[in-house]
Amino acid sequence: MSDKAVKHFIGGSYTAGTSGKLFQDINPVDGSVICDVHEGLKPEVDAAVTAAQQALRGPWGKMTIEERVAILYNVADGINARFDEFLEAECMDTGKPKSLARHIDIPRGAANFKAFAEVIKNEPTEAFSMATPDGAGALNYALRTPKGVIAVISPWNLPLLLMTWKVGPALACGNTVVVKPSEETPLTTSLLGEVMNEAGVPAGVFNVVNGFGPDSAGAYLTEHPDVDAITFTGETTTGTAIMKAAAVGMRDVSMELGGKNPAIIFADCDMDKAIEGVMRSVFANCGQVCLGTERVYVERPIFDEFVARLKQGAKGLKLGVPNDDAANMGPLISKEHQGKVLGYYALAKELGANIITGGGVPDMDDTLSGGAWVEPTIWTGLGDDSAIMREEIFGPCCHISPFTEEDEVIIRANDTVYGLACSIWTENLSKAHRVAGQIESGLIWVNSWFLRDLRTPFGGSKQSGIGREGGVHSLEFYTEMRNICVKL
Ligand code: NAD
Repeated sequence: MSDKAVKHFIGGSYTAGTSGKLFQDINPVDGSVICDVHEGLKPEVDAAVTAAQQALRGPWGKMTIEERVAILYNVADGINARFDEFLEAECMDTGKPKSLARHIDIPRGAANFKAFAEVIKNEPTEAFSMATPDGAGALNYALRTPKGVIAVISPWNLPLLLMTWKVGPALACGNTVVVKPSEETPLTTSLLGEVMNEAGVPAGVFNVVNGFGPDSAGAYLTEHPDVDAITFTGETTTGTAIMKAAAVGMRDVSMELGGKNPAIIFADCDMDKAIEGVMRSVFANCGQVCLGTERVYVERPIFDEFVARLKQGAKGLKLGVPNDDAANMGPLISKEHQGKVLGYYALAKELGANIITGGGVPDMDDTLSGGAWVEPTIWTGLGDDSAIMREEIFGPCCHISPFTEEDEVIIRANDTVYGLACSIWTENLSKAHRVAGQIESGLIWVNSWFLRDLRTPFGGSKQSGIGREGGVHSLEFYTEMRNICVKL
């Protein structure tokens, strides 16, 4: 068994566990093996949950909010102090350009701890005085208490950012966590264990068990009876399986799931800004962003121009390795995911789509031939009921359809089982507000995309999720309210 294999982090120490099983962490750029990873099974999950329970009863549970807040600031500072290590690890695991991760993934990883430290510090207490029959009265006040041990199950597309988006508020609220990172991207979560120790986070507050979903660490964690709540980001089908596990024991869930997000481009938009925004929302992170656009609706008078300009933009994208600062896109996360995305590329062709650009595997340097590369792809010509328009592909691709009427495009944009995000492009503000108010999504951008203030509610409608996280909304999930009624 390799000593260099990524270990679990349980009770403040790194451990190989006892399963004796290893899996490989693969570099999507060229298919090479980065390292082995220890797979956690039931014993490792049991140990992590026990450590988390003990930490709740230990110093962590007795700390004041001010003390916890100071530690969370140390965690954020610790990530920033080791910024380059996190950047290297994240880009090795995901293959994404460092130029992207340097501005988004790693800074947001640190910011998540500070943002929720501020939220919990400023949360007011609710109090009501009431009359009583004897005239003396009573005072009610509500205390926010931690929920307990929180299971955090995270995906591979923005590994550090999305994991800390849950760990930050969970710890700010005084909970302890057991994290199961994606099997594709274990490195930054593992590194965070060191930062937690350096920051003074007591042992057992932050635990990590590596492994897969079914019959592995993920499923054992969600089934564990001493896990008090489960927060999950990933596919809607996985979320459904986790909800079933959570039903046993009535555990609360927070679900951030898939999407099939529309962009609506009106003829009166600022075309340059719309092209720039849609380019990012389709191709950033190689299209592997839950908020990304896969359906573009363009008002007829500007349809041809829009298609031509988006094509020009897509053809100008440079694919490259993480260290290539000129690269706009890396590979997909894995050969498996490449197979799925190329399956949709083949299906689009079979269904008779017009392939405006892309649709295959790009010519890359020989050294990268084992990587999970795909071409940025744009289609037109398919109907709204085709699989390309209905299923989440999660790759660098979109279908562009023309529309005529405002009411028509609202109905078509909403005609999906998902409801995560939408962007609307128009210079007519009345129209922007009118349309935005009718879109069935948790997040709606006007003349922008991916602008995020961490205090705002984040989450999806319909099959894109349950609950909202962000700012005070995270407190609803990560705390339990207790009402104390004092007879005066
Ligand atoms: P995934 O559902 O395959 O895996 C997510 C995590 O769940 C992984 O850690 C995986 O090991 C674990 N898992 C899988 N099966 C499990 C089970 N039965 N029990 C417990 N854990 C299990 O998702 P992914 O492929 O890693 O990520 C891509 C998906 O995530 C896309 O659908 C994307 O839209 C979605 N996503 C949503 C958001 C959001 O905020 N709504 C953000 C990012 C990604």
